[in-house]
Amino acid sequence: MGSQPKLTLLFTRDEIEATVKRLAAEIRQDYRDKHPILIGILKGSFMFLADLIRLLDFPLEVEFVRLSSYGGGKSPGKIKLVQGVQQAKIKDRHVLVIEDIIDTGLTTAFVLEHLKQEKPASLKLCTLTDKPSRRKVAVNIDYLGLTVPNKFIVGYGIDWDEKFRYLPDIYTMEEGQ
Ligand code: 5GP
Repeated sequence: MGSQPKLTLLFTRDEIEATVKRLAAEIRQDYRDKHPILIGILKGSFMFLADLIRLLDFPLEVEFVRLSSYGGGKSPGKIKLVQGVQQAKIKDRHVLVIEDIIDTGLTTAFVLEHLKQEKPASLKLCTLTDKPSRRKVAVNIDYLGLTVPNKFIVGYGIDWDEKFRYLPDIYTMEEGQ
């Protein structure tokens, strides 16, 4: 048996809460009259999206997109859409994509390109965390939460092989030897 992964606190729940509040204020400013659709990328964004929309006091809709999982590795292989959103829901609507983390940018770029084809009135991106040091494709982030170092993070919805999603804080993780 290998030893347990080592977790080191990176962002406390208070820092996360303040960040979600700031992002909600920015989003409210831009979308309060637009009846937007917020599209969460499963599974990692579920906790962030749930906290975010509780702070948005205007009409909006929520949808989810799910991509093929890479199963515990550190970057995606071939990306595939497992669950999408009907085109009729997106066409001519203001769409805001909600991500938990942007790493190489490949997943987000794939999702944005897919949604663009459904002809939304506008398409923007909000991410709780960003790891710019590993970017492979350029991604324009409209609402940015926290910048993370070049380390693997877990917690607040973000998993390692389905573990640690439930943690209320965000940690960096090193695998056990
Ligand atoms: P991408 O490299 O396409 O930007 O991100 C692909 C996916 O890799 C993310 O959606 C996320 O599921 C996973 N990922 C990237 N960096 C991390 C990380 O630091 N921690 C965890 N748990 N997953 C990550």
